Amino acid sequence: MSTTLPTTGRPAAAVLADLRALHGDDAKWKDGKTFSLVYFAGDEVSQLLKDAYGEFIAENGLSPVAFPSLRKMECEVVSMAASLFHGDDGVAGTMTSGGTESIMMAVKAARDFARKERGVTAPELLVPCTAHPAFDKAAHYFGVKIVHAKTRPDLRADVADLERLVTPNTVLIVGSAPPYPHGVIDPIEDIAALAQKKGVWCHVDACLGGFFLPFAEKLGQPVPPWDFRVPGVNSISADLHKYGYAAKGASVVLYRTAALRRHQFFTWGGWNGGLYASPSFCGTRPGGAIAAAWAVMNHLGEAGYLARAKSVLASTAKMKAGINAIPGLRVLGEPHMGVFAFGSDSLNVYELGDAMDARGWKLDRQMDPPALHCMITPAHERVADLFLKDLKECAASLAAGHPAPDGSAAMYGMVGAIGDRTQMNEFLLDFLDGLFERG
Ligand SMILES: *Cc1c(COP(=O)(O)O)cnc(C)c1O
Repeated sequence: MSTTLPTTGRPAAAVLADLRALHGDDAKWKDGKTFSLVYFAGDEVSQLLKDAYGEFIAENGLSPVAFPSLRKMECEVVSMAASLFHGDDGVAGTMTSGGTESIMMAVKAARDFARKERGVTAPELLVPCTAHPAFDKAAHYFGVKIVHAKTRPDLRADVADLERLVTPNTVLIVGSAPPYPHGVIDPIEDIAALAQKKGVWCHVDACLGGFFLPFAEKLGQPVPPWDFRVPGVNSISADLHKYGYAAKGASVVLYRTAALRRHQFFTWGGWNGGLYASPSFCGTRPGGAIAAAWAVMNHLGEAGYLARAKSVLASTAKMKAGINAIPGLRVLGEPHMGVFAFGSDSLNVYELGDAMDARGWKLDRQMDPPALHCMITPAHERVADLFLKDLKECAASLAAGHPAPDGSAAMYGMVGAIGDRTQMNEFLLDFLDGLFERG
């Protein structure tokens, strides 16, 4: 029997107790043993996010006229982001529900801009292969053809290959700061210069780095130029719910001018329900997400973000050095922040991932090349030594010929052997079907 709505409800306390018990099997992110999905900035910040979110849980960002509070907070969040990214007063933007929505809005804006200004009717989107799948999703949703370019041996976008792939239909060229897989910032200056030369919009995906790199730079870390200081960069996406430490459902997308941003908006004046004007993809926009982002930025301030970036950079340096010191393992490329991957020429890293799983560590698996992925947050400072000890022991055990515990290694081995990954689509659709079978 599948679940139906209970005929009579139960007391709030009983429901909450059940809800809390559901946490049982979830990833234990607070102890630093997971490496993505959650960006934990400490209990005090978590409490502030809950309070701020709760305060605006009912308010709806769809109508800034009804809720000037949300309009003020959103404008201030966008403004703080614009100044962090060295935009001038002309930079305009909106908040969105996350990186995917920010990216979708930039793709839509670039498509509509090119249609209007250049008459492009068969739009193409040009990305390095390391760009986030949100671009593929945007292409899928918006009827845009996506073209993937190669990366160079140092894992950065190959600008010569991007240039080779530009056509008169190209509406957008993308660089990431940094791309998720290896954390190595693309050559944004060269990508933006190519875009300018071809008269094409350039978007920088700083979903991951947007609220980290400005602080890393202030701490003296070498950070190649990626923001509005680079001529030709027209738009930037940056996630508040990653290294901005906001509650989930918060990102920004910024444009060099308000005229570019207009191509993001949707309006319809012919509805019986009244005049409709929606800034981004969602209709109703949760006020809580806006309020929590505003609250954490004002609470942490530059000093708070700098302190967290310092912790992340220190843990990252320690972990990268420790990994490179383990026989057979090496960090891939030269990552710029707390995001990196490591691979091996002698060990099966998927088996290594399974061995680490058995010790409670959750490392994401990557492909081409096979690698394990780390995304360092302040929660990892306490566990960096333990991580390296476990990793060293697991690697030594595999090197000695001991079998790894059962896990996903067999599946990744199989997938790795498939040349044409579009063949994976049916498998992945079945996976989703299975995942969302009714309870
Ligand atoms: C996380 C991420 C995205 C997508 O963001 P969501 O918030 O998951 O939708 C896009 N680009 C990069 C580089 C990311 O790390």
